[in-house]
Amino acid sequence: MRGRHVTVAGLGVSGVSAARALKRLGAAVTVVDGGDSDTHRARAAELGAEDVTVRLADAETLPSGTDLIVTSPGWKPQSPLFAAADAAGVPVWGDVELAWRLRGAAPGEAVDGGRTPAPWLAVTGTNGKTTTVQMLASILEAAGLRAPAVGNIGTPLIDVVLAEDPPDVLAVELSSYQLHWAPSLRAHSAAVLNLAPDHLDWHGSMEAYAADKGRIYEGNQVACVYNCADPATEELVRRADVEEGCRAIGFTLGTPGPSELGVVDGILVDRAFVENRREQAQELAEISDITPAAPHNIANALAAAALARAYGVPPAAVRDGLRAFRPDAHRIAHVADIDGVAYIDDSKATNTHATQASLAAYDSIVWIAGGLAKGATFDELVRESAPRLRGAVLIGADRHLIHEALTRHAPDVPVVDLEQTDTGAMAAAVHEAARLARHGDTVLMAPACASMDMFVNYNARGDAFTDAVRALAAAGAHEV
Ligand code: ADP
Repeated sequence: MRGRHVTVAGLGVSGVSAARALKRLGAAVTVVDGGDSDTHRARAAELGAEDVTVRLADAETLPSGTDLIVTSPGWKPQSPLFAAADAAGVPVWGDVELAWRLRGAAPGEAVDGGRTPAPWLAVTGTNGKTTTVQMLASILEAAGLRAPAVGNIGTPLIDVVLAEDPPDVLAVELSSYQLHWAPSLRAHSAAVLNLAPDHLDWHGSMEAYAADKGRIYEGNQVACVYNCADPATEELVRRADVEEGCRAIGFTLGTPGPSELGVVDGILVDRAFVENRREQAQELAEISDITPAAPHNIANALAAAALARAYGVPPAAVRDGLRAFRPDAHRIAHVADIDGVAYIDDSKATNTHATQASLAAYDSIVWIAGGLAKGATFDELVRESAPRLRGAVLIGADRHLIHEALTRHAPDVPVVDLEQTDTGAMAAAVHEAARLARHGDTVLMAPACASMDMFVNYNARGDAFTDAVRALAAAGAHEV
């Protein structure tokens, strides 16, 4: 990087860490961003003090002399900056590509002048990425390895890769955006958890989205892990060009075949990496070791276990790691039981695929849903879930879309349509849900929509639900 002119696209968290890393490596760095807010200017001043040039309010023209662009993941491929780069023959890397290329470098040294790079165990999919990499990190740590969950979460990848004391192995969450800009990534092993339409405005089509996800398998050394219940993931393995000897490993909630991990009598078993040849299968953990033990989460655990086993982690560490794992907030989080009704916060269910998974985990549900639909349709979700719905309370800008689907496919389910859009709306929704619920029911807030019409983000939406449920419990109902 010494003496190179690198333009970093985007002044967000990953852009700032990329700019700093590139500067440390001796590059001349310019950061460009279309914004010009107080936050932008404060960040620009910080970087300016570190001898990084920042250009605000113009994200389109290519700074002259640019040898390389390092882009933040959210930037659309159609951006004029990339068209200009293409015309000038300037390559574009994402933050992941940069981290991958620098992974062997000691801080401040040439790429090949450093140390043995830590292998990457990589995870993508429409839903379940964060949960699965956190499970994987927990398993690897139970095996005595230093293995943080990184990528789309936690410390920026570039900072982990260039740290003075790098980890043994990385559990890496990768979004479809990041994969799009990471052409030379070659993981030790990788998993695609599932594929459902999402972010199609960015990728242009479902085919392009799937192809970007499929890049995670390219050049894998040991295992390509796919979901037996989602043939599109297996198809991506088939299309990938992998190292000789790399195996396709499936995971299933049913009885596993010879190259699969699955579930038999409530036990997670591995038939793919059996150590003792006389054994048919290796027992890994019990379903009750997993929190929450919802079907989609058992699938996540199997995917994490498959990657860990591909890396040589023993069965006992898989069990200990899964036992120690607790999901991040707002992912099927049990808030309280009030008068025999369970209240569950799944605010992170921001699309229909995630919501389908959480609705499938309960029997008699009062469903709180709605928000920004992002172009989604709700017919399939409602049709499949109708038998389990006791009632629905709808909030947010696009609630009418869910209401119409309920009218079409679940006409007997009582629906409360809340017009209220201020922050008190969630408390009103919880009250309505409590009114509809009977002993033994579950009130599930899994909105199938983004939150930004009413809340800052899904965290704030989940917090509003949690506060409302706690207030309900305190207001005289008996918490169990
Ligand atoms: P991501 O990082 O891909 O957004 P998370 O682990 O944060 O995934 O979970 C996002 C949402 O998807 C949560 O609502 C969760 O309940 C749901 N979810 C988690 N795993 C799966 C899965 N394997 N299939 C479908 N939905 C899932």
